[in-house]
Amino acid sequence: MTPLGWGIGAAAWLLAGSAAAFGQPAASTTLTAIRVGSHPTYTRVVFELDKPAAYEWRKKAGANAFQLTLLDTAPTAGVPSTVSVRNPHLAAVTISRVTPTSLRAAITAKTALTPRLLTLDHPDRIVVDFYPVSATTGTSPPLTKTAATRVIRTIVIDPGHGGKDPGAIGLSGYQEKEAVLDIGRRLKKLLEQRGHRIIMTRNDDTFIPLSDRTQIANSRGADLFVSIHANAHPKRSTKGMQVYLLGKATDEEARAVAARENGDDASQMDDLDQIFNDMALDFRINHSISLAYQTHDAFLRTVGKRYSVVDLGVKRAPFYVLMKSDMPGILAEVSFISNPQEEARLKKAAYRQSIAEALARGVERYLAEAAVES
Ligand SMILES: [Zn+2]
Repeated sequence: MTPLGWGIGAAAWLLAGSAAAFGQPAASTTLTAIRVGSHPTYTRVVFELDKPAAYEWRKKAGANAFQLTLLDTAPTAGVPSTVSVRNPHLAAVTISRVTPTSLRAAITAKTALTPRLLTLDHPDRIVVDFYPVSATTGTSPPLTKTAATRVIRTIVIDPGHGGKDPGAIGLSGYQEKEAVLDIGRRLKKLLEQRGHRIIMTRNDDTFIPLSDRTQIANSRGADLFVSIHANAHPKRSTKGMQVYLLGKATDEEARAVAARENGDDASQMDDLDQIFNDMALDFRINHSISLAYQTHDAFLRTVGKRYSVVDLGVKRAPFYVLMKSDMPGILAEVSFISNPQEEARLKKAAYRQSIAEALARGVERYLAEAAVES
């Protein structure tokens, strides 16, 4: 997150047009959503993008109006040309196209407001917080954000497999169920030290069906779901770390991983298209994206500091446990147990501890970001 300076200029103010008709995006960046949130002390407008965009920010001289011009950016069809705001401070956000490949968001205010701009990543966003200018002193809010307050959450830790289901098995016979249970226990300890409430879907070598795992999470009102697995590949040389979130499979590889982890429960899964058309999922998916990228980043920084880590990135796939749990969640494939080098590492407590620390850091960074966002 980068606090930005801002230009207040007297540049020509182009009134936004009425309903703008947009064709297919020809620009390199896509505006995917505009969200407005009312908070006790400020109003937040979020512009969600598929990658960072160059932009210009201006306040219209002498008026309670602002403009954000996004260069080389086009909106998806789902972005409305006008977003009405129902609160005492802002009136509306109106989008219009100023050139074939640039957009302008005109933000009209009802009262004198001081904006603060932030850029956030994972996903890329431009965030504008509008604070009322104090009527008596005319003072503005502090430029720097206060640190996020400490957030206590209920987190489900889901070590994959167990009991009759060993998961993937390494060349030397080491089993996925054993490695991921130990990592899960270590993660539990780390997150409890930070004050969080932890629910384990299994805390010993027991077989727990996938449906029971999500039922545990949903019935206990958990805030986050973290599933831990070790990967396997027919090619023994394949190694690395992946973090998955719910979605249509990114590629064949992702589809294969989900099929293996879902096992027999794959048949109980709902139609994906139907699920992803449900806009109520927006919150869950957006937060899962953030959790996935923070965990991925933490993994590279934490485990990558002591071990060579092959980064296989953040991917999406239709995992049963992510689909059926009601809260944001990820599934981490922490290493390939089918790769002899990574199997040997997984058998060492120091490596499993390092993975647990990375997962804990990812959760903490996600929670800190979510606290700033909400
Ligand atoms: Zn697994």
